Amino acid sequence: MTDGPGSTMVATESLRQSRLTRTHLTSDLTDQLEKEVVLTGWVHDVRALGGIAFLLLRDMGGIVQVTAPKSKVTAEILSKIGELHQEDVVAVRGRVVTSKIAKRGLEVIPSELEMLNRSETPLPLDPRGVQNTLLDTRLNWRVLDFRSEETNAIFRIQSRILQSFREFFLSRDYVEVQPPVIIASASEGGAELFSLKYFEKDAYLAQSPQLYKQMCAISFEKVFAVMPIFRAEKFEQPTHLNEVRQMDIEQAFASDTEVMTILEEFLAFCVETVRRACSEELRKLGRTLETLHLPLKRLKYSEAIEMLRKSGEDIELGADFSKTQEKKLSSLVGDHVFFITHWPVELKAFYAMPEADGKTSHAFDLIYDGLEISSGTQRIHLPELLEKRIHAKGLNPENFRSYVDAFRFGAPHHAGWSIGLERLTMKITGRENIRETTMFPRDRNRITP
Ligand code: ATP
Ligand code: MN
Repeated sequence: MTDGPGSTMVATESLRQSRLTRTHLTSDLTDQLEKEVVLTGWVHDVRALGGIAFLLLRDMGGIVQVTAPKSKVTAEILSKIGELHQEDVVAVRGRVVTSKIAKRGLEVIPSELEMLNRSETPLPLDPRGVQNTLLDTRLNWRVLDFRSEETNAIFRIQSRILQSFREFFLSRDYVEVQPPVIIASASEGGAELFSLKYFEKDAYLAQSPQLYKQMCAISFEKVFAVMPIFRAEKFEQPTHLNEVRQMDIEQAFASDTEVMTILEEFLAFCVETVRRACSEELRKLGRTLETLHLPLKRLKYSEAIEMLRKSGEDIELGADFSKTQEKKLSSLVGDHVFFITHWPVELKAFYAMPEADGKTSHAFDLIYDGLEISSGTQRIHLPELLEKRIHAKGLNPENFRSYVDAFRFGAPHHAGWSIGLERLTMKITGRENIRETTMFPRDRNRITP
C-alpha cells in the first residue's frame, strides 16, 4: 500500500472510531496515567534511533512525547514512526506512563498509529522556531507560522482580547450593532478611501463605522461594534495597516470624559483578563503584563507639546505628533498608558464637539507604550453646528446630508471611541510590527494570503 490518504486503511476500525473521543493535550494528562488515550495532532518532531523512536505530537493544547522502545511496541509501529515527517497529521493510541526525562513528566507508549494526512517536504517554514525567520516569509506561509508557539500564543491572546471586549460591554447592557462596510460617502473626510463599483454607482469601503454607530446610539443609547475598516493611504510604518479591525463603542447621554472612564475601565479589565487567562501564552512570548492603575493620567495636548519642545523636539502648537514623537512623549510622561486631551479642533474630525473656547475639542487619544491605540470624542449632535464644522473643514455639505439629517429628530448628546484590535494586541503581546498581530495583514505590498 502506498502512503497518502489510502494509508488510513491500515488503521483498525476501532482507532478511527475512537478518534471521536480523543483526548486533547489541553489537559495535563496526569489524570490519565496508566490509562489508554487516543491523541490526534501534528508531528512536531520525530527521532528514530536504533532501538527506540520518539515522536513529539502537538495539538491545540500543547506537545506530548510519544516514546516507542523496541521492547514495548510492535515492529510495525516502530517503522511507521521512522517514516514520519514534521507536520504529518496522525492519530495515536497509547498508554500514558510517567517519565523522568519527558517534559510533562509523562509520555505515551503507542499501540497504534494512523497517518491521517501527510505533509509535503521540505517545509517552507519550520514551526519549531520561527522567531529568526523573516516576517515576510512567515506571512507567506501563515498556516505553518500559526503552528509556532509564539504566533499561536499571539492569536490566542487576540481572541481573548475580543472576548473580553464583548464580555465587558454585553454585561453592561450595550447592544452589539452591525454597521455596513460599503458606504456611499466618506465618513470622516480627509483620509483616503478605497472606492469600488457598486452597480451603477460609486461606493467606498468604510474608513470608520462613525455615522452608523452614532445613528444606533441615538436610538439604542449604548452600542458597541467590531468591524473591519479600510484606509487607502500608502503607509510604510510598522504601526499601520490598510485593513484594520476596530472595536468601537458609542453612547448617548455621555460626554467625552464619561467615555474616557469607560475606556480605561475596559482596558484595565482586558489586561487583567489576558494576565489571568493567558499566563501560559504570555510566558511563551516572554512578556510580563503590568496591571493598569486607574485613573490613568490625562495630559492636555498643549502640555504634551510643551514637554516635547522642552526636550528639544521640533514641534509647533497645532501640529499632530509623529509616531516617533508619540514614543518620545511616553518616555517623558513616564506612565506607560495615558490620555491626551483638549486637542485643537483642526486636528480632529469635523464631528468632534468643540469646547467652549471654540479652539479645542472634546477629543482624546489613548497612548499605550508609546503608540496611539484609541481615539474618541464627544460628537456634535446639533445639526446647525455640524453644518458649520463641515464648512469650516472645507468639506462638501452635499456628501454629509444624510449624516446631518440623522440628528434632526431627537438626538441626545453622545460620545464614543474606537480601539484598533491589532494595535492593542501589539501592545499587549509586546510586538514591534503590527503585521505580527494581524492574522492576514493587508498592506500596500500584500493582499495574499
Ligand atoms: P494614526 O494617527 O495612528 O494613523 P488615526 O488617528 O488615523 O491613527 P483613528 O481614526 O483614530 O486612527 O482610528 C481609531 C483607532 O483605530 C486608532 O487609534 C488605531 O488603534 C486604529 N487604527 C486606525 N488606523 C489604523 C491603521 N492604519 N493601522 C492600524 N490601526 C489603525
Ligand atoms: Mn486617532
